[in-house]
This record gives sequence, structure tokens and C-alpha cells, in this order.
Amino acid sequence: MISEKMVGLVKGSSVIRAMFEEGKQMAAKYGAENVFDFSLGNPNVPAPQAVNDALIDVVKNTDSVKLHGYMSNTGFEEVRDAIAKSLNKRFNTNYSEKNIVMTVGAAGGLNVALKSILNPGDEVIAFAPYFGEYNNYVANFDGKMVVVSPDTTSFQPNLDEFEQKITNRTTCVIVNSPNNPTGVVYSAATLTRMSEILEKKQKELGRTIYLITDEPYRELAYDGIEVPWVPNFYRNTIVGYSYSKSLSLPGERIGYLVVPTEADDYEDLFAAFGVATRILGFVNAPGIMQLAIQKCVDEETDLSYYDRNRNTLYEGLTKAGFTCQKPEGAFYLFLKSPIADEKEFVNMAKKYNLLIVPGSTFVCPGYVRIAYCVSYETIVNSLPKFEQLAKDCGL
Ligand code: PLP
Repeated sequence: MISEKMVGLVKGSSVIRAMFEEGKQMAAKYGAENVFDFSLGNPNVPAPQAVNDALIDVVKNTDSVKLHGYMSNTGFEEVRDAIAKSLNKRFNTNYSEKNIVMTVGAAGGLNVALKSILNPGDEVIAFAPYFGEYNNYVANFDGKMVVVSPDTTSFQPNLDEFEQKITNRTTCVIVNSPNNPTGVVYSAATLTRMSEILEKKQKELGRTIYLITDEPYRELAYDGIEVPWVPNFYRNTIVGYSYSKSLSLPGERIGYLVVPTEADDYEDLFAAFGVATRILGFVNAPGIMQLAIQKCVDEETDLSYYDRNRNTLYEGLTKAGFTCQKPEGAFYLFLKSPIADEKEFVNMAKKYNLLIVPGSTFVCPGYVRIAYCVSYETIVNSLPKFEQLAKDCGL
């Protein structure tokens, strides 16, 4: 018999994953070209050739014991060093391998960070809308999720409510920019004010509050918009990064955490991250991928592909009468549901083989998420369907 906790989790299992499976079934039934699957953030832009070249090179030219062996739980030192140097160049920081822990994607990194800092009942604040898996990650360590309601005019964090929700059980705050599901980039002004609030509350409550910034979409920002480096705003920041989206490697499960030396209890944190990596059962991030990443730290994805999708989708949807904010980053568009119940709207969309995700999955009902990391043809061919859907909704 499975545990009581798991019974609930299996029942409420990921809506996005269920849609992805449904999409595959629909593609078999209607033909892939007639199904418009905008459900999953699975990048369609191929990984840069340099990644495949690096993998071949690593496999051909690395000593077999090193290639396939265990290493330090925090990852290969030379890989961490290469990442630290790349960050230093870009963000004017001073990191070394002692600030980097290799992780099994962003999901692995977030679980390692939360395992390391949460005591049962500790509170974690997140700003709606947010990646719904955070709820599960926090529950893994018996933390309590505290949700700040969305500011649906800008989708920047609602900082007045944030300040009120910080208590003497607040252990960390999770932010994600560029944001899944809104595509919003948190501005320097937002981060400055957020840091001021956190500094003030830390003093007032006499406790450390970590800011975990989950950044799998860091490089996916359009129109030259700058994604601020959060540790430059707030000392007690932990950065979670992943190559899943930026280099189109979600199946490879590779990313890292950054723990700045200036963070409170830095040494304990770093040690705890290594131990958490081990005892959560990861042991270490995949070795061959680490060695390949060492050679690709400055590689970039083809952003122009997503940008063209973004522009075409945004223009098509607004022309059809839908309301949405133009995304600034990531590869998601957050559309206001034209009818009150967005789940009903998602079902209406399915009639046109349009698969989109209800906003309630991101703790923001009344909206839907459209993942545009699909082929350009999918975007273009879906627009007449969205137009018909708009008409059905009276737009
Ligand atoms: N965080 C956010 C905001 C995401 O959107 C995702 C994946 O979609 C993840 C974390 C997990 O990413 P990874 O594949 O690196 O574990």
C-alpha cells in the first residue's frame, strides 16, 4: 500500500503532464499536424551542436574511471570552476568552485536547497502565479507554502502583501524570473524593494530569510531586456539554475546552485547542499553531462526562434480579441480566460485540438498558460483555431 501522502499526490498529479500524455494520444488519433499542443515547456529548438560535440569529445577523451565514476557530491571541481568564471564575467561577481553545487536540473537543485534549510512547519513564500511544483517541493520537507496573491495588472510581485505575510516562521522566499507562466521579468526596481523588505524583516525578526531565485529561463529574454542578477541585490540569495531550457536539455537533468560566500551560514549551507544531494538519492549530478557543460558554459540557444513564435502568437491572439501581456522572457504566454471558469475554457479549446494549461495549476485561476516552445508552423496553424475559439466565447 502506498503512503497517505502519496495517495493525495498521485490523485492530484500534474495537470501539465496529463495534458502532455493526452496530446500524444490525440496526435496518434488526429495526426500530429492537427494537434496544437501548448501544454509542456519542452523546448523544440534543438540543443546547440556544441553540446553534442562536447559530449562526443568527453566520451572519447576522458579516462573511463573519471567518466563513469563517482565524484564529490557537489560535482566536478573543474566544472564548477568553469561555471563560476562564466558567471563572474557576466555579472561582475567573484565566485569560485566553492560557490557552485552541480544539481539534477532546477527541480533537483530546489529540493536540495529546501531540504537543507527547512524545518517542519517553516514557511516558504511564493508569488502567484508560480510553477505549481513548488508546492510539492516544499511539502517534501514538511514546509508550509504561503502564497502572495497576484498583481494581475503587471504580474510583478505584490510587495505590500509580501511584507505583511513575512512571519517568524518565514525561512525562504522563492522567485522565478523570467517567469513561468507569465513571461514577466522581475525588474531591478522590484528586486530592490523586495530586498529592502527582506533586510528590514530579517532585522526585526532576528532571523535569516533566504531568497531562492529559480532561473531556468535566465537567458531567454527578448528585446534586449536585462535579467538582473539577484545576489547583487540581496546577500542571502541562493540561485537555482538549469540547462533544461537555456540549452534545450530537459531530459539530461543538469543544473547548479549558487551559494554566495556572503550568505549567512555559507559554509554550513554549502556542506548541507552536498549532503542533501547525496541523501536525496541523486548522489551527484550526471557526470558526463557535467563534463560536457564545462565546455559549453557560454553556449546560447537560438532565441530568435522563440522570439518569432512569441511575436506571431501575441499578435494573433490579441487580434482575435484575447487579452494578455506580451511576454518579456521564457517561452510562455499567460492569457486571460474570456470566461470566468478557465477550466471550462481549456475544455472548449480542446474541441479545436488546442491544448493549454489552466491558470489554477499556477495558483492563478482565470488565466491559461500557452507554452510557445513549439514549431513555428504549430503557432501559425493554430491561430485560425484560436480565432474560432474567440468567437465561441463571444469575443
Ligand atoms: N522551475 C521552473 C520555473 C520551471 O518552469 C521548471 C520546468 O519547467 C523547473 C523549475 C524544473 O526544471 P528542470 O527541468 O531543470 O528540473
